[in-house]
Amino acid sequence: MSDADIGVGGTLVWYYYICLRQVWLISHQITPDADDGNLILGRFIGETSYNREKKELAIGSSKMDVYHFNNGEMVVGEVKKSSKYNQSARMQLAFYLKELHKRGIQARGELRFPQEKKKEEVILDEDTLAEIERVERDILRLVYLQQPPPPVKNRFCKKCAYSEFCWS
Ligand code: SF4
Repeated sequence: MSDADIGVGGTLVWYYYICLRQVWLISHQITPDADDGNLILGRFIGETSYNREKKELAIGSSKMDVYHFNNGEMVVGEVKKSSKYNQSARMQLAFYLKELHKRGIQARGELRFPQEKKKEEVILDEDTLAEIERVERDILRLVYLQQPPPPVKNRFCKKCAYSEFCWS
């Protein structure tokens, strides 16, 4: 894999907090079954919730939803199926805020969990920025591994679209 193939995007940041093996599989385009029920539900929620106010913005390899402007500040966000993946969702959004910040755009984040009728604010502070930069470096380290890291049982395996691949 050449450097040109690799761009650490929000999706890899998301999977970093779920499973390091998934980061490797996805970055090597080994994708799970597209008909997996969890993926379909996630896509459906993303496509149908808050559609009236949603606009998509692409920056580099990242795509984010722009909700609105508040006193000149951009509010970007993500719609998620469940707050079970809260840490992944927060850090993915923080990564988007960092990408905007790099380009001189001030923004804050808003995570939305329509099924739970919940919203959470995400701010890019110094600690979060340092953590994102560390994660980006570690994702690159993982992506360059010749083999995927071995499967390690975790609380996400049961509903993971790779579970057959990892455990059968
Ligand atoms: S089944 Fe478990 S170990 Fe395998 S990719 Fe999914 S989360 Fe990772």
